Amino acid sequence: ATMPPLLAAVALAGRQGVLVKSALMMERLAEVDRAAFDKTGTLTTGCPEVERLIAFDGDAARLRRLAAAAEARSEHPIGRVLAGLADHTDATEFQAMPGRGVRAVVDDIEVLVGHPILLNDAEDDARARATVGEFETAGLTVAVVIADKRPVGVIGLSDAVRPDAAQAVEALRARLGTDPSLLTGDHPAAARRVAAAVDIRDAEATLLPGDKADRLAGTRTLYIGDGVNDAPALAASHVGAAMGGTASDLALQSADIVLVGRRLTALPAAIDLARKARRVAR
Ligand code: ADP
Ligand code: MG
Repeated sequence: ATMPPLLAAVALAGRQGVLVKSALMMERLAEVDRAAFDKTGTLTTGCPEVERLIAFDGDAARLRRLAAAAEARSEHPIGRVLAGLADHTDATEFQAMPGRGVRAVVDDIEVLVGHPILLNDAEDDARARATVGEFETAGLTVAVVIADKRPVGVIGLSDAVRPDAAQAVEALRARLGTDPSLLTGDHPAAARRVAAAVDIRDAEATLLPGDKADRLAGTRTLYIGDGVNDAPALAASHVGAAMGGTASDLALQSADIVLVGRRLTALPAAIDLARKARRVAR
């Protein structure tokens, strides 16, 4: 017997580096009418570089050690970079806070690293907020480091856009006839920087993981993400695609498609395959 068209499309897509988990998901891929992207690790490489680092007591080495120790077990792209900042002691407690950062205990000190929203629970935060504002204006993604409830420093990172991201956005716009959007937990200036680089006009920032899912539920959106924070969105979307290589285990499990070849431009190609297979199947 010949292979059913949708299953044949699954096999073909697989050869092009797109793992579609079932024939049903291939059929759903033919139905999507909009695309939405996560930013960090999805439109960008997920290997951000530290551009600026300010320690409020002047001890940059301690700031690096605390950040590295706290992030040592983090799966987030920012966390992985910060984990490599310095040799460090092992944290005795570790807890990831999706969309926010991490909490760890390092040398008996509670250390928080992550989104500036963490400053809401800190004391003496005026200087930290001013530095965060300065870094954000520069388009950097900002991680604050808080030890024993006091800000010890601020780290500014920037992340290169994937070489094929703009081309993928354009191809999806052409295929679907709608404008792709960007949904990110990062701040508006960082969102605008990446959106402009890939020609996305609709960018929403400072979203929590649940907010991303809310935007997608009940729509026919293809959502592409990579993080633990993207798991709810990947599950809520019509079709969820996880970026291979950098994606967290939870994202890979929640997704319907895995971009094992790590090429965003493989998505419009997979949509073509799906549409063709559905036409034949009917
Ligand atoms: P994005 O949607 O851009 O992938 P996330 O939702 O993963 O961003 O995270 C939102 C924000 O939370 C990040 O921009 C970052 O500021 C912060 N963040 C999350 N996890 C971490 C972490 N482990 N270390 C530092 N910052 C983090
Ligand atoms: Mg991400």
